Amino acid sequence: MPLIRNRAAHVRRAVVTGGAGFLGSHLCGKLLEEGVEVLCLDNFLTGTPRNVEHLLSEPGFRCLRYDVTDFVHVSGPVDLVLHLASPASPVDYLRFPVETLNVGSIGTWHALGLAREKQARFLLASTSEVYGDPQVHPQPESYWGHVNPVGPRGVYDEAKRYAEAMTTAYRTARGVDTAIVRIFNTFGPRMRPDDGRAVPTFVRQALAGEPITVTGDGLQTRSVCYVDDLVRGILALALSGEPGPVNIGNPHEMTVARIAEDVIRACGSSSTVRFVDRPVDDPQVRRPDTALARERLGWEPRVSWEDGLARTVAWFRDALAAPAGPELT
Ligand code: NAD
Repeated sequence: MPLIRNRAAHVRRAVVTGGAGFLGSHLCGKLLEEGVEVLCLDNFLTGTPRNVEHLLSEPGFRCLRYDVTDFVHVSGPVDLVLHLASPASPVDYLRFPVETLNVGSIGTWHALGLAREKQARFLLASTSEVYGDPQVHPQPESYWGHVNPVGPRGVYDEAKRYAEAMTTAYRTARGVDTAIVRIFNTFGPRMRPDDGRAVPTFVRQALAGEPITVTGDGLQTRSVCYVDDLVRGILALALSGEPGPVNIGNPHEMTVARIAEDVIRACGSSSTVRFVDRPVDDPQVRRPDTALARERLGWEPRVSWEDGLARTVAWFRDALAAPAGPELT
């Protein structure tokens, strides 16, 4: 039974750009579970074929090494284009600043072109970073943000802001059925232990018995969403007729110091906390206003921080002990 989108249209085949990344791989798995054929396009810049290795034997799944800034050509019908390709962690986008700007601009333009050609629904994976270091708290979708375009994080924030503008223009001027999701910090299995984001960094350090490096005084806040909840939210938006932008994230706000303490406890570790310098333009607070997701999509997070953390720690324990899997060519 194909997934039903927007009461009228059936989703039989989806293209997921960035499908071999952390979020993309979970999304590919969920779509396949729902009976949707999936074509994953990824250049493996920050993702890895290992993330989708378990899906390769599924008849409905294909993964191609593909840089969406070159061009996007797909043969056959496509009902849904989910555009997730982009470096996403500060470590990654500071290492690949030009690639980040290019995938947010040229890559988004190509992905929108594919949706237009196939008359498919298009979903842009945007980010809470479009709010920058916010002066409104929590952040509703109506807030325009507080972003420094020439600061180090500008490459990511402005690429996503441009991508949102391009997506909106394709909706109004090119007749493409588009949606924008603003994703807040998400965690779970398949994050890279070295991607620099708080949860995987702390888990890696705690499991190794190393000091946990908390930036600043640790009183800055984050609200982290477990990946299964996030994927459910993305699909709810993709299958609705809503254009967004819609925030998807967990409004449960914690200080970074508390996240560190909970990770130490969940890992059964004796690590201590070491305070280090705070990165430039690091946001002081971050919490989604999720009223719109609740009203329009009936979406709310279900997995508690404690449960999500336990599942993540269990995955990291296995992954860090396992030998590296084969590479896809
Ligand atoms: P990720 O780095 O794990 O995945 C991104 C994927 O995109 C990788 O597999 C990478 O190889 C691929 N990619 C990058 N450039 C590409 C290109 N030019 N062509 C083809 N593939 C390319 O990151 P993620 O955490 O899974 O994030 C996925 C998306 O969600 C990103 O667009 C990100 O901005 C957004 N997002 C994520 C979070 C989060 O907490 N994880 C928060 C906000 C927004």
